[in-house]
Amino acid sequence: MTAADAMRPRIGVLAVQGAVSEHEAALADVGARTSRVRDAADLEGLDGLVIPGGESTTFGLVAGESGLLDAVRARVDGGMPVFGTCAGMIMLARGIAGGGAQPLIGGMDIVVRRNAFGRQVHSFEADLEVSAIGQPPMRGIFIRAPWIEESGPSVEILADHGGHPVAARDATRIVAAFHPELTDDRRLHRLFVDGVREAVTEHKEDSVVGSQ
Ligand code: GLN
Repeated sequence: MTAADAMRPRIGVLAVQGAVSEHEAALADVGARTSRVRDAADLEGLDGLVIPGGESTTFGLVAGESGLLDAVRARVDGGMPVFGTCAGMIMLARGIAGGGAQPLIGGMDIVVRRNAFGRQVHSFEADLEVSAIGQPPMRGIFIRAPWIEESGPSVEILADHGGHPVAARDATRIVAAFHPELTDDRRLHRLFVDGVREAVTEHKEDSVVGSQ
């Protein structure tokens, strides 16, 4: 991998459902190359992965049956950077508050509550102060959104809404309960892709040291 390649990391977008093309556009805007992930083979050669919103139970079902869920879990466990939005955040949680056994990927030490802002509140928008991003606030679009109910010590909460955490990161793993891909604010995608660039560069340095 050349330094130029590291600057344009390859990010897959899980294309089971959800706002796939909006994520691709956001990632391209911040200098990443993108490809769609529909089966385990599509994970090959990726430096990072975005898991879009949608319906987490559908994700679990479709990707569980095809073996994609296990393949993604193996890569996440192996340290691949991931960015999950809304249902993608749910998939990266270690558990769901209030019961409901559904297949998850895991990887973030968080427990989330699905449809947490109330089922009757289908969607809303709010300005969010996101700590790793700064001013001005981000416009968060929430659609039947979850919140983070519990988080472990390795998890840094990046934003709250109404007293509930709605964005977090753990090293190169980022989750957001809202949909940054549906606005033209690219700061959260940039934060993710910058983390991927660092991970790629570190890995490159490791392999250089390893080959000496
Ligand atoms: N309510 C959905 C779920 O629980 C998430 C909604 C979304 O991704 N916009 O999976």
